[in-house]
Amino acid sequence: MAANPVFLLPLPSKTAGANMLPRRRVITPTYTTMSQFESQPLIGLTLEGLRKVAAECGMPPFSAKQMAQWLYVKRITEIDAMTDLSKRARAKLAEHGFTVGRQQPLTAAESSDGTVKYLFEGVGGRDIESVYIPDRDRATLCVSSQAGCRMNCSFCMTGRQGFHGSLTAAGIMNQILSVPGSESLTNLVFMGMGEPLDNLPPVLEAIEIITSKWGMAWSPKRITVSTIGKLRELRTLLDTTKVHIAISIHSPYPTERLALMPVEKAFPIKDVISLLRQYDFSHQRRLSFEYIMFKGLNDDRRHCLELAHMLKGLDCRVNLIRFHAIPDSDLAAPSTEVMERFRDTLNAQGITATIRASRGEDIMAACGMLAGKNRTI
Ligand code: SF4
Repeated sequence: MAANPVFLLPLPSKTAGANMLPRRRVITPTYTTMSQFESQPLIGLTLEGLRKVAAECGMPPFSAKQMAQWLYVKRITEIDAMTDLSKRARAKLAEHGFTVGRQQPLTAAESSDGTVKYLFEGVGGRDIESVYIPDRDRATLCVSSQAGCRMNCSFCMTGRQGFHGSLTAAGIMNQILSVPGSESLTNLVFMGMGEPLDNLPPVLEAIEIITSKWGMAWSPKRITVSTIGKLRELRTLLDTTKVHIAISIHSPYPTERLALMPVEKAFPIKDVISLLRQYDFSHQRRLSFEYIMFKGLNDDRRHCLELAHMLKGLDCRVNLIRFHAIPDSDLAAPSTEVMERFRDTLNAQGITATIRASRGEDIMAACGMLAGKNRTI
């Protein structure tokens, strides 16, 4: 249970040298939190779910929309704050074991570049991490969908820790609603811990809540789901939402991709691309491919030309990501010059490519570095 968490925020000192320890600040929680596993959280419920709650508690059907407004727009943290529900209705909700279900982060660590990594209570004894990335007029939250991951990619800290459980829609929505600065978020990326398409129903419920008029009313263009490309689930995501899609590719050669990403065996990248070719990405919806660059492994002209060949004719862009070193790994990052040459060659081949800026590397918050925390140790 995460009651009364101590909120530790290491503050980088402006004058501190690189070797000085960050200062720590303790923030008293502003509301009481209750574990989502000890109650029935209301956050994470779609309008249909809230209608069922209303019926169960003898409330009129229109109370569902009222609750949605309180939960997702006014962002209340206690049932008693829903003041346009009758006292009796609020008492009934509590009687039936419902809580708002909001939980504050347990800790936070701030990078020298302004990125903040938050630790939240997860599942299976493992906490999960979310990363807040401010950038000029944007503020993006990188959301986790699972504690650990089943996909076992060789370059990823999350994959290394194994799989500990999938988050509910409440666990996903809690990150979005409870992260400090939540009201000013402009974008969401499902690129945190876990494979979103390995936990699709709660991810779809969260997307419905975020994009529906009765919920947060965001445009789906503000949301990107990143995936290794589980085929059946990818088709469902493409058919039922309008969010942007990012596919982790990392090598155009199947045997090399298999060594980096064991899922290549079950979901060959050629099948993923064939599926994507059936959809239109020329208008509102964006398709991108994430290509982590490893020194001497996938960073030469041969890989670049094969990648361009593979993606030819698809309306897409390629995001080149420098590999972030993780402990006990022989993998290394290429130089900036090599990455720029790769990008320029792709662009010359007619494939739009950009080098993604690394954020939060000093706090282990960059791509592939999220590991959460084991509560059982
Ligand atoms: S890179 Fe993504 S899919 Fe692969 S192990 Fe890490 S979290 Fe899972």
